[in-house]
Amino acid sequence: MTRHYNFCAGPAALPVAVLERARNELLDFQGRGLSVMEMSHRSDEFVAIADRAEADLRYLLDIPSNYKVLFLQGGASMQFAMLPMNLLGQGGSANFIQTGIWGKKAISEARRLGFNCHVAASSEDNGHTAVPDENALAISSDAAYLHYTSNETIGGLEFDYTPRVQRADGADVPLVCDMSSNILSGPIDVTQFGVIYAGAQKNIGPAGLTLVAIRDDLLGKAPSSIPSLFDYQMLADAGSMVNTPPTFAWYLAGLVFQWLKDDIGGLEVMDDINQRKAQKLYAAIDASDFYTNPIASRNRSRMNVPFVLADSSLDSVFLQEADEAGLLNLKGHRSVGGMRASLYNAVPEEAVDALIAFMADFEQRRG
Ligand code: PMP
Repeated sequence: MTRHYNFCAGPAALPVAVLERARNELLDFQGRGLSVMEMSHRSDEFVAIADRAEADLRYLLDIPSNYKVLFLQGGASMQFAMLPMNLLGQGGSANFIQTGIWGKKAISEARRLGFNCHVAASSEDNGHTAVPDENALAISSDAAYLHYTSNETIGGLEFDYTPRVQRADGADVPLVCDMSSNILSGPIDVTQFGVIYAGAQKNIGPAGLTLVAIRDDLLGKAPSSIPSLFDYQMLADAGSMVNTPPTFAWYLAGLVFQWLKDDIGGLEVMDDINQRKAQKLYAAIDASDFYTNPIASRNRSRMNVPFVLADSSLDSVFLQEADEAGLLNLKGHRSVGGMRASLYNAVPEEAVDALIAFMADFEQRRG
């Protein structure tokens, strides 16, 4: 069996140790004679798995007790709709910092539902190559929350600050963050956020699971007309089990949390590894005239590194040769083209070293 290096933006690489453990437990989970996929979500065994996953996540991110953690379905995209449905239930508008395609989708979904939206700042003018300055944010006076995307997965643009905003009347505006592609890449201060959410299929686990951490004072704001499966308060009251949750994805996410805690040694260590991986790759790109990354250095994503070749007619041969060398999924998103290497937690440093060596060799032969 050969495992190749997988640079996919999502669903993305999972830690080998997690896959091995899941394989070992697949047919017979801890002597119970069945797999996790076959258990009732209300069984003692599964409730223990779910509780442990939540406890480990709380430990890793240091999530305070006045936040609820929800394990949901529907992807991060469903949160684009659930957020305004819940948080604008008592009026006001949603404010956005728009720094790329995912932020734009969040705005269009809220608009589609008829909610008031206000773009407080956008990096559209600079082609999403630099995050707007914090002091350039123009928050509307009726802002119920401010939404931003801490890491734009397609553009490879990452915030280097956590916005803190007040309305003109001095009230703090709750911060809502789509952390789909950089959650768990390093420590964060959860208390700065009203809501954090993330699709699982990058740094958390397999597709099919979405995490939401929500501060208690933001619960209970939804009108009773929305579906119960969209209502954060009802989901929180039911321990994310209003209906059958994605049990196997929840279990695998729990194994990833254990790996981060026990094998890696926590998020500070993970952060150091991620910094190192990204810095090496950007240094290799910057040292070459053949590869380019356009993002302002302070906003270069540690998780998603897009780059273009000086001669785009070589794109397909680059991808094919990379694939043959065991470097998978380097094609950039279809909307931007070029290449993208996603360096999530489960992508080991050796993978980045191998990619850098391949890029140098390719440039020498073809550049
Ligand atoms: N937000 C960001 C930052 C993403 O990268 C993605 C998916 N790549 C999404 C939202 C949408 O996620 P999902 O497919 O889980 O709905």
